[in-house]
Amino acid sequence: MIQFFHVSKRFDRTVALKDVTLHIQKGERVLLTGPSGAGKTTLLKLIFGADTPDEGQILVQNRNISRLRGSDIPHLRRSMGFVLQDFKLLPKKSVFENVVLPLIIQGGTGPEVKKKVTEALKAVGMDHKRATQTGVLSAGEQQRVCIARAVVNSPIILLADEPTGNLDTDLTVEIVDLFKTINARGTTVLMATHNRQVVEQMNGRVLHLHSGRILSDQGTTA
Ligand code: ADP
Repeated sequence: MIQFFHVSKRFDRTVALKDVTLHIQKGERVLLTGPSGAGKTTLLKLIFGADTPDEGQILVQNRNISRLRGSDIPHLRRSMGFVLQDFKLLPKKSVFENVVLPLIIQGGTGPEVKKKVTEALKAVGMDHKRATQTGVLSAGEQQRVCIARAVVNSPIILLADEPTGNLDTDLTVEIVDLFKTINARGTTVLMATHNRQVVEQMNGRVLHLHSGRILSDQGTTA
């Protein structure tokens, strides 16, 4: 599903990833842990095609994405959702309008689009607030909307970068449960977090990064 072969990435003199080799199977639940600056975000961005490696090869669903051309990126991203710590919702737009956006960008129209949004909103328990502006929602609700937006096009891979970073303990438990439910339905989940509670609750494979290297790789849900 996701394969890294000797991947390295530098920013000027900073080594973000160093000789990372990795294989993630379909349906796995993977936690990326490690201190700030360890390379977690960089690893996620490389999978998402938001950046390219300096060395090595990356395969996503057997397609080599190491040297992506701009025109290849939309196709790659159709199979992925990405959830961030700082929601990045459009605050003046409604819940529905935010979640429908990825489908519209992909050229979707008509009742099928509406149905997909409703399903995604129901999955995260936010359908009753579909007409509410996202700017007035609580942090936990905003993160639920982000998750709906990330899964609305039924991605095969769900990436998340510190998705509970802005949430208190109770909300963190709820959001982690949501990721587990999405994973249980077959989506491969890859989440970066330095929150030990999240790692324990997710109970998946743990990749520990330090200074751009994988120091340990424990447990697997595949
Ligand atoms: P983490 O997500 O584990 O905190 P990152 O992947 O964000 O780590 O960063 C890894 C290293 O690469 C850090 O030293 C960071 O400062 C550096 N880095 C990441 N992105 C950039 C960038 N766009 N420009 C310069 N340095 C960067």
